Amino acid sequence: MYVHTDYHTHTCHSDGQGTVDENAAAAVRAGLRAVGIADHGPASLFGIGVPSLSHFARIRREVDRARRRWPQVRILFGVEANLISLRGDLDVPEEMQNDFDFVLAGLHPYVRPLSLHDGLALGCVRLMERLSSLPRSKARAKNTDALIRAVYRNHIDVITHPGYRIPVDTRALARACAEVGTALEINSSHDHITLEYVEIAAAQGATFVIGSDAHIPDRVGRFERALALAKAAGLTPREVLNAEDRP
Ligand SMILES: [Zn+2]
Ligand SMILES: [Zn+2]
Repeated sequence: MYVHTDYHTHTCHSDGQGTVDENAAAAVRAGLRAVGIADHGPASLFGIGVPSLSHFARIRREVDRARRRWPQVRILFGVEANLISLRGDLDVPEEMQNDFDFVLAGLHPYVRPLSLHDGLALGCVRLMERLSSLPRSKARAKNTDALIRAVYRNHIDVITHPGYRIPVDTRALARACAEVGTALEINSSHDHITLEYVEIAAAQGATFVIGSDAHIPDRVGRFERALALAKAAGLTPREVLNAEDRP
């Protein structure tokens, strides 16, 4: 299987190290057909996210410049948005979502929730998780429910790294994603992504996108771990939307 597009790369506009231009150059070196710039939304705390929603205009201008410089690769302007409420709100509001070439969204620790209530229930912030009186199974059900609401309420192309640091019910999430046409990510950077997750999601009819989640340019287009999982689960390019059979 050949993965032709890496939708999931970060730059120094959020918590990555390279510039848009450097990620584009790395994509050319890696032989990719397209690369997505997907910096963290503004609700990510501690400088992990972009400083504000208006900052995306600046990233967009850099993407435009990089497009002129690197015509041999398609450069896509995207975002990795955060889930910030139990109702499924993202930190990139719905009316802005069409400004992007694609929208990734996921649950992250260290996120400013829409309200204290949302934060406590979602365990958005590590501290809140400890303060929260919810047992783990209940927290998992709430996280899952909020993610599913987000899938129905927004224009999300891919849910990133389900289960990373915040537990979710893969089966229920995958069922909703399959219905709406939102893909699930097989993230190549996180060890918690297991074969079991891929198999359970595939059994619900979910589609997948393989992502590097590169935070340095050298990791752009590096999919070894995700590809091994996809192969072990018996996935083909029919289920993996950014892959095709190697000619
Ligand atoms: Zn993420
Ligand atoms: Zn990421």
